[in-house]
Formats: sequence, C-alpha cells, structure tokens
Amino acid sequence: MYRYLVRRLRAVARLVGLMLAIGLSLAGATAQAQTGYTQTRYPIVLVHGLFGFDSFLGVDYFYGIPSALQQGGARVFVAQVSAANSTEVRGEQLLAQVKNIMAITGAAKVNLVGHSHGGPTIRYVAGVAPGLVASVTSIGGVNKGSRVADILRGTVPAGTLSETVVNNAAKAFVALINLGSGATGLSQMPIAALNSLTTAGSLKFNQRFPQALPSDCGSGAELVNGVRYYSWTGTQPVTNVLDVSDGALGIMSLTFGQASDGLVSACSSRLGKHLGDYRQNHLDEVNQVVGLRDWFSADPVTLYRQHANRLKLANL
Ligand code: CA
Repeated sequence: MYRYLVRRLRAVARLVGLMLAIGLSLAGATAQAQTGYTQTRYPIVLVHGLFGFDSFLGVDYFYGIPSALQQGGARVFVAQVSAANSTEVRGEQLLAQVKNIMAITGAAKVNLVGHSHGGPTIRYVAGVAPGLVASVTSIGGVNKGSRVADILRGTVPAGTLSETVVNNAAKAFVALINLGSGATGLSQMPIAALNSLTTAGSLKFNQRFPQALPSDCGSGAELVNGVRYYSWTGTQPVTNVLDVSDGALGIMSLTFGQASDGLVSACSSRLGKHLGDYRQNHLDEVNQVVGLRDWFSADPVTLYRQHANRLKLANL
C-alpha cells in the first residue's frame, strides 16, 4: 500500500513537472513573440506636425507611442523640425536628421512616420532621397491641403461658407495652437507654414512630389522608387467630452462639408495604401490630449504597433 502510494505520488509529480515545463516554454515563446512584434528592420522616425516641437502641452507629441514601439523591439527616433515653417524647410531639417540617425545606428534606411504637416514633410525626404527611405506613413496628413488653412489665408471663395462659420473656425484654430504651444496665437504660425498647408500650396508641392498620391479619394501607388507608402486617418472630429481640444476641432470640422478629422479632410489624407478611417480626430491620431479619445474605438497606440508589425513583415 505504501509503495503504491509513493508510485502514485511520483507519477503525479512527473505530470505536474511536465505541465509546468510546457507552460513555461509556452510563456517563453509568447514573451519572445511580443518582444519582436514591432522589431522592424530599419529604425522608425516619428515626425510631428503643427503643434510644438517634440511635445504637446509639455508631454510627448506622439503620446505613449515611442515607448510602446520600443517595448516591441523597434528602434525609434522622434524628429525635431520647425513647428511652423514651409514643407521644404522642414523637409531639409528632417533629411539632415535622417542622415544622423543612419550614422548613429548604421542602418541603411529609415521608416518615416509623419502626422499632420509631418505627412508632406516625410514625402519631401522620400522625394529627394528615396534611397534613404524604406517607407513613408502619413497619418492625418495634409497631403492635399486643409480647408482651415484656406480660411486663415482668406482663400476660401466668397459665399461658400457663412461669415460666422469662417470666423469661428479661425478663432478655434488659434485657440488650438495656443493650447498646444502655450503661446499667443498666429505669431506661432508663420505664413510660410500656412501657405504650405493651403489647398493651393499643397497642389504646387504635389506637382514636384506626386509620389503615391491618388487622383481620387482611394489608395495611391503603394511602391514608388523603392519606397512603400501608407496612410490612415481619423474621421470623427469630436470623440471625448473630457478633451479640451475637441471643441475647437468640432467647430473647424463645420467648414469641411465632407468627412474630416477636424483639421484635415479624409480625402486630403490619402497616400499610398490607405489603411483605414478611424473614429479619431486630428489629435486622437497621436493619442492626444494625454490619451483622451473615443474609448470604444481602435486604440491609437495599437494602430502604430500594428503598423510597425506590418513594416516588419514587409521586411522594412
Ligand atoms: Ca483626443
């Protein structure tokens, strides 16, 4: 009886040991998979838009995004270009930083990810130096101009919008710039930046850099001069009543008469392979302000992680 009990206990112990070993190896495999999920071949360079330098309200411009990408194995750099300048000036600043990043990391190329004015900015670098760029990803990119910039430059044709809507949109934009930079109004917004962001200014830029732009509101070419092009955007101007920026984006969205994220129309944002329209406004696209967004839609940070995985799987 005693021997039988010992044999049974040993058998149970072996079984438990085996189950533990399987459990541990499964956990190890899962941990390994998570480690490499965003581990792209080339470094990822995040390029900001209109608001501040690498920060918005004193916090990371791409809120919580660089760390989330790094946790999955990506090498991430946050570029610092002029908050308010022409696309060409910002593009040249970025080109110099890309060369520095390549020198530091030894990487042969970079993956460029730009938000808002960052979209045209990264297109500039891919246009003048395609050999240095593995991919271009434009998020809420001002690729065909912004109605709000047209209003601020006074180029909206008379009679298309009521004076009240125009005035309120202009005020809302100034309020948003003040909110983001803690400064005073349009002095933070040089004319060169605004000119680049108008419909007319964008069309002129696009004549020089037409790569991957669709002629309509669909997808553009995915591969041009060896560079992969992608885009996504938000189409919901108001998403969270707790977010102080939602009011301004909601007011500005009234000027569009078509789907927009409050600052950029969905059609203007299209570039290369269109990856989706989300329930996000222009600042939700970078997980601002401090993560306040529509809780019941896609997490902005998750979209960046999934995209890094997409780049990884494309060997980029
Ligand atoms: Ca928000």
